[in-house]
Amino acid sequence: MIMNSDTFMFHGCDVAALAAKYGTPLYLVSEDEIRKRCAEIKRDFTDKYDNTRAAYASKAFQTLEMIRIIKSEGLSLDVVSGGEIYAAVKAGFDPADMVFHGNSKTAGEIGEALDAGVGTIVVDNLSELELMDQMARDRNMKQEVLFRVTPGVDSHTHQYISTGQADSKFGFSTEETVETAVPEALKMEGIDLKGVHFHVGSQLLENTSHIMAVEIIIKMLEDLKDKYGWTAREINCGGGFGVHYAGDPSRTKISDFVDPVMKRIEEAYNRCGDPRPMVTIEPGRWIIAEAGITVYEVGSVKTNAAGRVYAGVDGGFPDNPRTELYNASYEVEAVEKLKLPHTVKTTVAGKCCESGDIVAYDVMLPPLERGDHLAVLATGAYNYSMSSNYNRIGRPPVVMLKDGKDRLTVKRETYEDMLRNEM
Ligand SMILES: *Cc1c(COP(=O)(O)O)cnc(C)c1O
Repeated sequence: MIMNSDTFMFHGCDVAALAAKYGTPLYLVSEDEIRKRCAEIKRDFTDKYDNTRAAYASKAFQTLEMIRIIKSEGLSLDVVSGGEIYAAVKAGFDPADMVFHGNSKTAGEIGEALDAGVGTIVVDNLSELELMDQMARDRNMKQEVLFRVTPGVDSHTHQYISTGQADSKFGFSTEETVETAVPEALKMEGIDLKGVHFHVGSQLLENTSHIMAVEIIIKMLEDLKDKYGWTAREINCGGGFGVHYAGDPSRTKISDFVDPVMKRIEEAYNRCGDPRPMVTIEPGRWIIAEAGITVYEVGSVKTNAAGRVYAGVDGGFPDNPRTELYNASYEVEAVEKLKLPHTVKTTVAGKCCESGDIVAYDVMLPPLERGDHLAVLATGAYNYSMSSNYNRIGRPPVVMLKDGKDRLTVKRETYEDMLRNEM
């Protein structure tokens, strides 16, 4: 994204000028990049294969404006709470195109989803299934559901998997699905069992886990047909398509993930002759991560007794907890000093009262001083949506960039905003 300029440009916008205009910390999100990603999903998945759909996993980054963009791109929306459903409805998103997830949905949220007309609810467990059946019958409804199935892919052989292994808080085992959940659901008047869902984990850079999982799911669907004559109308393969955060300029392609999965599903249905169910994917991070950056201002710069150089910035853990939570690593650009030699190994430190509040460890940067700006790349996913007010720090504003123009889409949280609910 670096253009022929002395300061850092992001999607045709001068980052130093935007920092001056909006203040820091500041989230910048490129609408152009989001739309490019959606176009790739269309080209390589939804247009390429019929009877498919992509639902944006909005927990990665959900603002009203983001939902409007996703709506205009024609994607469905994956939501995980009553609050996400509420915001999506406010943004004008059709609930019929929503997919509602969660391992511990409350009765209140299930009621909200049923009343809003959420198209697909992904059922995680038997008690939820029973509750949903009851609540749907109370409303004279038959709710379309998928079962979240944990394919039991061994996490030791595939280290990146974090949700698909047998010992997971999510979903039904394949055995429980076959022996109990499906026969129960087929008896329920409030439930229309449409198909199955799996999500093997997040930030997967290889497609092996998706492939292993879909093979297990196909086998399970064959068992279900043999046992009950039931055939799925939808297979939802979840999200988890990873992006490169630092040290690798290559971009992961959606086709690397979906092509081998589609091949296996199509082969299985060609073999048995049944119509292939709709296939859904739920990309979150892949759409939004690289579309976003965070801009900070440098405060103190110091060398500690161990010889480590610290550049303290005006944000950190409250706007980006991922370094502390997941040991994430990020690329950092010195906004005004791009052209200077990057000679100083620097740890970019957040401002919170926690030693673990580090934005990026050991990045090579030019010598920094108070007032310089730093841009942290690929912070679009799971930053704003995971942000907090820890240390009573207000959330940064979200400025969207399109065709080289900037527009404010979420205001900076003020001190007063943070006291709004206090008596
Ligand atoms: C989080 C989540 C996703 C999106 O994951 P990404 O890694 O952001 O693509 C999709 N589906 C489900 C069920 C999820 O929980």
